Amino acid sequence: MRYIDSHCHLYKFNEIEIKRIIKNKDITILSVSEDLESSLKNLILSQLNENVIPAIGIHPWNIEKVNENTFKIIEDIIKDNKIKILGEIGLDKKFKPETFEKQKEIFERFLNLAKEYDLNLNLHTPNASNDVYDLLIKYDIKKAYFHWYSGDEKLLEEIIDKGYFIGINVATIVNEKYRKYIEITNIKNIITESDGPYNYKGVILHPDMLKDLYKLISDIRKIDLEELSNIIQNNFARFIY
Ligand SMILES: [Zn+2]
Repeated sequence: MRYIDSHCHLYKFNEIEIKRIIKNKDITILSVSEDLESSLKNLILSQLNENVIPAIGIHPWNIEKVNENTFKIIEDIIKDNKIKILGEIGLDKKFKPETFEKQKEIFERFLNLAKEYDLNLNLHTPNASNDVYDLLIKYDIKKAYFHWYSGDEKLLEEIIDKGYFIGINVATIVNEKYRKYIEITNIKNIITESDGPYNYKGVILHPDMLKDLYKLISDIRKIDLEELSNIIQNNFARFIY
């Protein structure tokens, strides 16, 4: 059984825990970044571990860290390391509505980079999935992943029609409100994630929780675990390549 963690902040765990997590060769981790420092940390983690895939980016909560040099450095990192994925990037109207216009400006710069280097996007979209989706269409983005999707069902249909991917988070184990996304999303568009070590209502989300999430999806969708694992692995491969 192979587990996919399509959105994890691996560098945020302590060193011993990072080693323990990636020692398990049955897991593939896409480690997303939140600023330049974590982008470089993810790059090193991916160079040392074949089951770690790096995504480079500036989180919409960190846009004040962006200056004139930032995009030049990011472009160099992409070129020098043949980076395929940008993230965690996006828009946030839920936690940071006050900086929305600035977020949009930065996000559009990333969308230009994505066009130029043919990059796939790992997206943060709280209360802004529609805004993000409209920009993906405007920039003709081919591959995108809506991390921990919590948007409406109408947009979900459009996302699936477009062939983009929906992130089902391990928090679904502790909060039933997310289960509907397992029920209504085409199985070919589902990818799993932890967002570890994010503190969700007192629960530290962790890749170890993927096992229970797979069991939950398997029960809800009546697909046996082995087959489910193959489907998600396949979906993930379609996203990252
Ligand atoms: Zn995240």
